[in-house]
Amino acid sequence: MADIITSDAHGVLAVSDNPIIPFIEGDGTGVDIWPAAKLVLDAAAKKYGKTIEWKEVLAGEKAFKEIGNWLPDETVDTFRSHLIGIKGPLTTPIGGGFRSLNVALRQILDLYVCLRPVRWFKGVPSPVLHPEYVDMVIFRENTEDVYSGLELEAGTAEAEKLRGYLHDTFGWDIREMSGIGIKPISKEGSERLIRASLKYALDHGRKSVTLVHKGNIMKFTEGYFMKLGYQLVRDEFSDTHVGWDDCGGDPGDKILVKDSIADITLQQVLTRAQEFDVIATMNLNGDYLSDALAAQVGGIGIAPGANINYVTGHGIFEATHGTAPKYAGQDKVNPGSVLLSGVLMFEHLGWQDAADDIVRALEATIADKVVTYDFARLMQGATEVKCSEFASAIVDRL
Ligand code: NAP
Repeated sequence: MADIITSDAHGVLAVSDNPIIPFIEGDGTGVDIWPAAKLVLDAAAKKYGKTIEWKEVLAGEKAFKEIGNWLPDETVDTFRSHLIGIKGPLTTPIGGGFRSLNVALRQILDLYVCLRPVRWFKGVPSPVLHPEYVDMVIFRENTEDVYSGLELEAGTAEAEKLRGYLHDTFGWDIREMSGIGIKPISKEGSERLIRASLKYALDHGRKSVTLVHKGNIMKFTEGYFMKLGYQLVRDEFSDTHVGWDDCGGDPGDKILVKDSIADITLQQVLTRAQEFDVIATMNLNGDYLSDALAAQVGGIGIAPGANINYVTGHGIFEATHGTAPKYAGQDKVNPGSVLLSGVLMFEHLGWQDAADDIVRALEATIADKVVTYDFARLMQGATEVKCSEFASAIVDRL
């Protein structure tokens, strides 16, 4: 009999060999990539005597067509009660309702970490000379920063009221007809994100954690994030980690915690990629960095992602690309992103062997130049296969 995944008071999961895992197929190419990914995930789990009972939940266009709601309460409730889930891409409804279903899910379940591992798979076409130097794990804060939605439209009475208040109270002169946004960076929000990154580095044998910020300009938000990070290392991780200033850049056998200004970081992840390992940063920086890095290792079709609350144990693993509607239903696109998100999910569940097997099989498939259109168009001598055939080729190599 299948079981619901549970967690203890510290967010540690209890996972049986037959867990029930909710999934959202996803809009557009979701119909292609989800069955392909599922084929591989099931085959790898089976090798280790595990069977997943997949439970479909609706969101996006499918939910809107069937029940007139883009994100039904039942879907959110199922993710809440089952802790772990996986999803394909969702169309962002235009006008009214939620800004984005993805953002809504993250906010409702308080999934404060956006986890984006970025590495290169041998053979994947890349725009840089040494994509193999890229092996980074980005922890992007998911709930604060300029993504909080605290914005007032230029010229509205509310914006004028705030402008007047800021002038009268702080002497701040903001031009007329300015849109105004608020950038909250809190102690709690920053610390829980950085704590997760420090723990991850320890659990995964990583060498360094870089706090990426723009604190030279935004001292009390981004600079605050950096300071909180270094203090957290001293307060909670001094046995295993050490901040740059506290060791003169020589951490001995501890994990080095350093910081880097965001604009320089975007240069150095290109020019000195080996110097970066785990990265912890705020919402906007994390958004830019994860997409830039994904491009560096061969792009959008295979970049995985997860949104996690390490305290409650909730996690939703997701394809990072969109619905690519022009390819929907053609059995054409690369299922790598949602598949590798499934690999991340397996790792999170403690199913490391099955996760490693999938990665090895994927590498072997790409090494044999059996690839979907997106890689085939950039590789010499490739055999272009359909989305489902790519999945079967991976299963053959498991
Ligand atoms: P997109 O769907 O990501 O597609 C942009 C391009 O990326 C595609 O035309 C294709 O490039 C490439 N691509 C996407 N998925 C691929 C895959 N699986 N394999 C290989 N190549 C892939 O971005 P969009 O067209 O801007 O957005 C479409 C819809 O998706 C919008 O409604 C948007 O809101 C939504 N969206 C959802 C999410 C999410 O659910 N996480 C994320 C982003 C966007 P080529 O044309 O070069 O082949």
